[in-house]
Amino acid sequence: MREGASNLMPADCIFCRIVRGELPSQKVWENDEILAFRDIHPAAPVHVLVVPKEHIAGMAAAGNEHAALLGELLLAGQKVAEQEGLDEGYRLVINQGNHGRQTVAHLHLHVLGGRLLGAMG
Ligand code: 5GP
Ligand code: ZN
Repeated sequence: MREGASNLMPADCIFCRIVRGELPSQKVWENDEILAFRDIHPAAPVHVLVVPKEHIAGMAAAGNEHAALLGELLLAGQKVAEQEGLDEGYRLVINQGNHGRQTVAHLHLHVLGGRLLGAMG
């Protein structure tokens, strides 16, 4: 855990609430550590969020102890893309902080696909 990072599951974190089943979501994939569900405001025909069930505030809050989990997160993104039939390609994105336009402070990987995506940035 990086200094200042919180490992708690905050009562009011929307993704923690989705993980706990307190808020509804359209689940697409799950294992013991990770949940994938459809983004409520899809930016592409396929837009899935892949989140660790453990609360990690964002990429900047991850530490070496999360190395395996971060690998699992990427591989879960790959599995979701396969399951969603994104055989022409897809994009995996993690937004961090203000400049990264992160709006939910619970680490998540966006899986985007289903059309030719725009340029980065
Ligand atoms: P960020 O901007 O932090 O990288 O991405 C947060 C994403 O979460 C946004 O794409 C937003 O549409 C999505 N989102 C926010 N609130 C909810 C919610 O309650 N349910 C679901 N499924 N997605 C949400
Ligand atoms: Zn959370």
